[in-house]
Amino acid sequence: MHAVWKGGSLRGLDALPVTVEVQMSRGLPGIGMVGLAGAATRESRDRVLGALRECGFSTPAGRVTVNLAPAEEPKEGAAFDLAIALGILEVSQQINVKRGRNWWVLGELALDGRLLPVRGALVLGRAARKAGAEGVLFPPGNAMELEQLDGIHKGVLPNLSRVIEWSEGKIQAGVPSQLKRRKSPARETPMMNAIEGQDRLRRALEIAAVGGHHLLLVGAPGGGKTHLARALREILPPLSAEEESEVLALRSLAGLPLRQDGLRPFRAPHHSLSVPGLLGTLGRGGRPGELALSHRGLLFLDEVPEFNRGVLESLRQPLEEGAYTLSRGAGRIRWPARFQLVAAMNPCPCGQLLRGREHCRCAPPQIRRYLGRLSGPVLDRIDMILEVPAWDGIQGETRPGSPVLERVSAAQQRLNREPPVLNSQLAAWLDGQLSGSGASYRLRAKVRALAASLAALEDRSELSRGQLLEALELALHFRKRFTSMSADRL
Ligand SMILES: [Zn+2]
Repeated sequence: MHAVWKGGSLRGLDALPVTVEVQMSRGLPGIGMVGLAGAATRESRDRVLGALRECGFSTPAGRVTVNLAPAEEPKEGAAFDLAIALGILEVSQQINVKRGRNWWVLGELALDGRLLPVRGALVLGRAARKAGAEGVLFPPGNAMELEQLDGIHKGVLPNLSRVIEWSEGKIQAGVPSQLKRRKSPARETPMMNAIEGQDRLRRALEIAAVGGHHLLLVGAPGGGKTHLARALREILPPLSAEEESEVLALRSLAGLPLRQDGLRPFRAPHHSLSVPGLLGTLGRGGRPGELALSHRGLLFLDEVPEFNRGVLESLRQPLEEGAYTLSRGAGRIRWPARFQLVAAMNPCPCGQLLRGREHCRCAPPQIRRYLGRLSGPVLDRIDMILEVPAWDGIQGETRPGSPVLERVSAAQQRLNREPPVLNSQLAAWLDGQLSGSGASYRLRAKVRALAASLAALEDRSELSRGQLLEALELALHFRKRFTSMSADRL
């Protein structure tokens, strides 16, 4: 006897279709697993046998071989339990299957036959649809993720007994609605509105939102840097349906709760973050790190010089390419990482340097070391550096009816549709401004990109000298101060 069931094995944001073949032959009773099963999958045998006994079925009288195909690909996780159990019941002629052979059936079995949720159900479901499966069957704990999945039959069932009834055509399997949908994202911007009397900061945040520019905030402790980062997130245009589905799939892989409010991700890891915490891991089908979880949103690194050097170095390639690959041996996962970086730091270890040298208790070598930690990997990729004054302007009350969201959305659309052009005369002028400052090609590109965001905000099709000057200020002013603060003459 021979039975075939289907499932999938996670590979980052995708999943590999897996065929679970079960065969019974004469021989000593027992179950053998072949096909590069990982540890959790090998333990399936014990869980499945326990669940079969608990549900009143007998253990097969012959030799059962379970083959997970394709054999050369490693398979991880406990999600194959359900398919293996169905296969064993079928080859031992204990059930009469009428439905489900072309479905992906996934779920971990508890010893009492209950089905426990699997990680990454949304990703698995999308892969099943892509592979042409008829439907997907999951444990109830994955119902919320299944609600995000369209274009394929889907169902959830609580335990092995119900799944058997379903496969024999006796019951249906639906998906109860669990998700609190809030389709229209909040159009309020309380954090932004509460930044009172700081028009320069408000404007800088708007520019950063339009062009997705990476930002470094420098200011004394408690000066509202975290507030500014959160305000920036508020004024970013909401996620499109496609972007949201990507973001939810990544959260599903991380085992994080799903919410559907159109808001962009905001990740603010502590400076004790490790490199695997940042980049994610390859094992067990891949778990996303902070970079992938920030995809389509903001990554806020507060106290950025305190982060581990390896973590800061690891930002380099993702910032450049919007994606990165983890690989080890034959394993390889490509993670998306199109995020906007907001870094924040004190100007010196004591935090008072911007108020004047006399207020600062730090010795010059301390300051140099502190600022030096940032140079290179992060500073090179920052588009604007903002000096955040110590201000008490964050108000509890909000300005009513701020049109900032509309302005940012319109400017962003304009920028994508028809990027503002730089005429040759002004291009030469800009080169003149930048010559001698040791400006790299990268810095020149930053200034032009910032000016383009400014022009888009002003609804102009051509860059003006005024916009270039403002862009130079945003990109260069503090960079120069930064360099002089870390220079020897302090
Ligand atoms: Zn200091």
